[in-house]
Amino acid sequence: MTPLVIEADAGWFGGRTLRRRVRVTAYADGRPWRLGGPVPRSGLRLRVDGVLVPGLVDHHVHVDQIDPAALLAGGVSGVRDLGSPPDAGLALALRSRHDPVLPGVVAAGPFLTAPSGYPSDRAWAAEGSFRTVEDPADAIRAVTALVAEGAGLVKVALNADAGPVLDDPTLLAVVKTARSAGLPVVAHAQGARQAHRALGAGVDELAHTPWTERLPDRIVRAFAVLTRWTSTLDIHGWGVRTQESATALDNLRRFHRAGGRVRYGTDLGNGPLPLGVNPRELSALAEAGLSAPHIVAAIAVSTTDLAVLPGDPLADPLMTSRVAAVVRAGRYRERTRV
Ligand SMILES: [Zn+2]
Repeated sequence: MTPLVIEADAGWFGGRTLRRRVRVTAYADGRPWRLGGPVPRSGLRLRVDGVLVPGLVDHHVHVDQIDPAALLAGGVSGVRDLGSPPDAGLALALRSRHDPVLPGVVAAGPFLTAPSGYPSDRAWAAEGSFRTVEDPADAIRAVTALVAEGAGLVKVALNADAGPVLDDPTLLAVVKTARSAGLPVVAHAQGARQAHRALGAGVDELAHTPWTERLPDRIVRAFAVLTRWTSTLDIHGWGVRTQESATALDNLRRFHRAGGRVRYGTDLGNGPLPLGVNPRELSALAEAGLSAPHIVAAIAVSTTDLAVLPGDPLADPLMTSRVAAVVRAGRYRERTRV
């Protein structure tokens, strides 16, 4: 298919300043976009008003609870599905490779959890949205099956307040098997003790900024070196200040200051969140001490898609919630207001 060559007066592709007069070539076949370089002979050329940035990604979504096409229309061109039945997340991840009306989906598929463990007790946990794991041998089987089903990451639930949790040998077997398949492990770790266990087991990422307790500085520093955190700050009150949001902000502020890598994520599908970029999540990131370049780097991360913003996100990161158009799978489409 013909590549699309997009030109804009300004763009952001990393760093602390905008680039002037950018030209990016985007492809329909899943190849990464290319900044600069020669103009392809067969390319369609398009000039856009605004600031061109890598496509916006929400790193924590439950795709079975939302309309993914509406999310793309709202300006988010990529999602990570962190837990859904296989016929939702994993199936959508496959379809999204070829379907330009869907955002790009990287899916965990079902959560892995201990028998009778979280979220099996939750009303929102649809049938098939979690898989119980008995012991290390079962962990190897479960992760191997997820890999075969096309999972792009593995999600484990560690919530001792809500029931049994995976023991250390089983958790280690999950991490080791995922790592040998090249998949990151993302943990829902609830409480300082479970967060600490996740760190010890070598998980790559926390699905939420820890929100129940203040983590000691030395633990936060270890997390900053070894893991990434997906923010999900706004779910603790949806704009209303709560004890949980204050605790999460305090933990994230110290994680960021220690050099930890923060990813924009909302837990979309869980509670009243907008079907697009959530401006309250962006404001909370600023409150946690992230500068504008850090906020933009937490959300504008797609290597295949692009977004056109109406103004400079380094002057105002809220610009990322006002997407004018997206380029997804080599096609340009203006945002539909939702
Ligand atoms: Zn979630």
